[in-house]
Amino acid sequence: MSKTALILGAGFSGCTLAHLLATKGWDCTVVEKDHAIGGGCRTLFYGGHPYTNGPRVYYGYSERVYQWINRFIEMRPLDFELLSYVESEHRFFSYPIHEDDIPLMSKSRQIQAELQARDLTKKPADFEEYWISRVGRTLYDMFVNSYSRKMWRIESNKQLDTFSWSAKDNPINSGSRIAYKGSYLAYPTGYTGYNPYFDKTIAGATLILNQSPIAIDFDRRAVTLGDGTVLTADVLISSIPIDEFCGFSRGELPYAGRDFIPFVLPIKRVSPGNVRFFHYTQNEPYTRIVEYKALTDYQAEDTLLVMELPSANGKLYPYMLKKHIDTAKRYQEDLPENVFSTGRLGTYRYSTIEQTIAQAFTVFRNITGQRVDNIDEEFYEIGDLSLIKDRK
Ligand SMILES: Cc1cc2nc3c(=O)[nH]c(=O)nc-3n(C[C@H](O)[C@H](O)[C@H](O)COP(=O)(O)OP(=O)(O)OC[C@H]3O[C@@H](n4cnc5c(N)ncnc54)[C@H](O)[C@@H]3O)c2cc1C
Repeated sequence: MSKTALILGAGFSGCTLAHLLATKGWDCTVVEKDHAIGGGCRTLFYGGHPYTNGPRVYYGYSERVYQWINRFIEMRPLDFELLSYVESEHRFFSYPIHEDDIPLMSKSRQIQAELQARDLTKKPADFEEYWISRVGRTLYDMFVNSYSRKMWRIESNKQLDTFSWSAKDNPINSGSRIAYKGSYLAYPTGYTGYNPYFDKTIAGATLILNQSPIAIDFDRRAVTLGDGTVLTADVLISSIPIDEFCGFSRGELPYAGRDFIPFVLPIKRVSPGNVRFFHYTQNEPYTRIVEYKALTDYQAEDTLLVMELPSANGKLYPYMLKKHIDTAKRYQEDLPENVFSTGRLGTYRYSTIEQTIAQAFTVFRNITGQRVDNIDEEFYEIGDLSLIKDRK
């Protein structure tokens, strides 16, 4: 008889694992609370324009994971440059901050003096100290201070006690203005974006939409759904928020959310050249505006932009505070044999699409003892960001 897996959530994590296990003969059931699959990377439509909630550009460092996604959907490589609007300067600048832009800034002398004085070896205690030690007070105030506080909806960046997820040690860029240099940067070529990845990878599984667990019994690997159905399996895999999966036994974990506001403008294209989205760094209520046709290559006389407003809506960004990271780790340690929690919400990590797929490979290896495409799993320990920067 086939082994059985019950998978919660049908985003990159759940669908990738459903595919990997189904192709090994496992009988997989996937439970998704939404009316459609794909999670945060599902393509939506407004006025015919395809878009996602958040840019969801593929960027990664592993050739093999990039080849993996290309097996299911054709990806179009693209370079991109990011612009940040600094209202006090009345203009946009490149982001990451570019050394050639500094002479164009009104306080360039002060900035240069602060850059000369910085000590990159200093061990900062919080996010604010980290950034000031890396770029000086003036650039921090122009690009990071208000942006981060509005993004996380906090009073002070001193509240953030981790920062390795935020920027490299010397965040001043030089040379080409392309962001995420050295990585695979791409977006699906098809009109429906990543959707065919989800359709193809879930095809071998039984899918239950519009349902969530109301009770979970780890020992029996039994899940009771809202409609009263009880499902059991040999292996239980979750990609839903780990605190919810564990019945909030160690308390609730906080997340930052977003409101996404699509709007169309009567012009073919707004963003210049390789620029595909813009950040707003100061007192505007929004953090980012993305021009989707610059990613999707959708052809139309008008253009769709999506404004992102930080809010309590949705569990999108885990708060990278030591105490929450620690709670998530303890939740992981609580999981008994044959019960797994993976993905962005399941590990409470700031993981990318690439890392999420790689995490699914790690869970697959832990279940079956088999590696996917010989990927070196040390690179891909669940949610480990420290290793990603040295790849390629
Ligand atoms: C705004 C934003 C922009 C991003 N942009 C990028 C980017 O440009 N590039 C990049 O590489 N990464 C980006 N990411 C990260 C990337 O999208 C994620 O790493 C990836 O989508 C995570 O996939 P997942 O399957 O783990 O989670 P999700 O896609 O969140 O899937 C989880 C699924 O579980 C379902 N679910 C939740 N609760 C329950 C429940 N109780 N019962 C049943 N189902 C449930 C959800 O509906 C969802 O379908 C971005 C993330 C955000 C939030």
